[in-house]
Amino acid sequence: MLDSKLHDEDARIAALRRLGVLDTAIEQPFEKIVMLVRTVLRVPMAAVTLVDRERQWFKASRGLDATETPRSVSFCTYTIQQRGPMIIEDASRDPRFADNPLVVGPPFVRAYAGIPLRTPEGYNVGALCAIDTEPRTFSPADIAILRDFANIVCDELELRLIAQLDHLTGALTRRGFSEQAERELARAGRYDRPGALVMLDVDHFKRVNDTYGHSIGDQVLQQIAGITEGALRPSDVFGRLGGEEFALLLPETSGAEAMMVAERLREAIAGHAIRLPDGGTLHVTASFGVAESPGIATLAAWLERADAMLYAAKSGGRNRTELAELV
Ligand code: GH3
Ligand code: MG
Ligand code: MG
Repeated sequence: MLDSKLHDEDARIAALRRLGVLDTAIEQPFEKIVMLVRTVLRVPMAAVTLVDRERQWFKASRGLDATETPRSVSFCTYTIQQRGPMIIEDASRDPRFADNPLVVGPPFVRAYAGIPLRTPEGYNVGALCAIDTEPRTFSPADIAILRDFANIVCDELELRLIAQLDHLTGALTRRGFSEQAERELARAGRYDRPGALVMLDVDHFKRVNDTYGHSIGDQVLQQIAGITEGALRPSDVFGRLGGEEFALLLPETSGAEAMMVAERLREAIAGHAIRLPDGGTLHVTASFGVAESPGIATLAAWLERADAMLYAAKSGGRNRTELAELV
């Protein structure tokens, strides 16, 4: 059977990025699972691996020193190309791995069992694996247990994502946005890459609620979030900071480019007709503030700058976008 999702690398990476789990701190559910795998399967090493474009990153691991390895030496990169488990009883006798640096050098991998971690959309984003330094067989019972643990890992990945999403709009919560934005700001600083932050606030939203009721107000927020989501790239971070205020973090984007994104969004929102129960329609507008990352040290300072521009857009008449001057 042709399984196209196993071979669409861009879509697979997008599914991985959507989880927002890469480079996050230690979390107990994953720690417990790798500990259990090690005990139950009696292996010295176990890991929850996420396979990024060029590297494998360990969400949790036991018995391994590295927090990530290049993808080129990764066993799990093979595991994610199949639906079922990948089992290697003796890596030194497998032509794919016999001269792998992780086999001929530390940690001296000999046996490996890995189960792909599959997202609900069907993409293999990583693997749960058990690793031994001696050749060994894995019994059907061992594999069944590993598979059950892999299912728990997948559920946990979904749960931690759902906990970061705003119920009404599906955007990240303020906290979820901050976590992902902090990581992006650190990455941009580390590699000296550009980035832009866009803040959006619905104009005269109180009037919408007062005139049409809170439930129409909710629909307006949902539709604005939908329009915004539709305009995003997979690497963009979109959150609801509170009430009728949203933020967009655009990696690898200059202030001028972010202005264009914001302006397009502003026009799309202003041009969108919201259907009312009586058959009529309602139009709303939004104001935008944009700030670039160069010269910015903290997320708080970045948000403050974008917010000052949003305030300028409001006092300049609303339904406008203002870009901060570079510091
Ligand atoms: P401005 O153009 O200056 O931004 O004016 P505004 O009326 O949009 O701003 P204001 O901050 O005065 O009002 C925001 C309103 O948003 C008040 C609050 O009741 C409403 N609101 C906040 N969260 C929600 C929500 O989840 N659903 C609905 N329907 N309304 C919300
Ligand atoms: Mg408002
Ligand atoms: Mg507001």
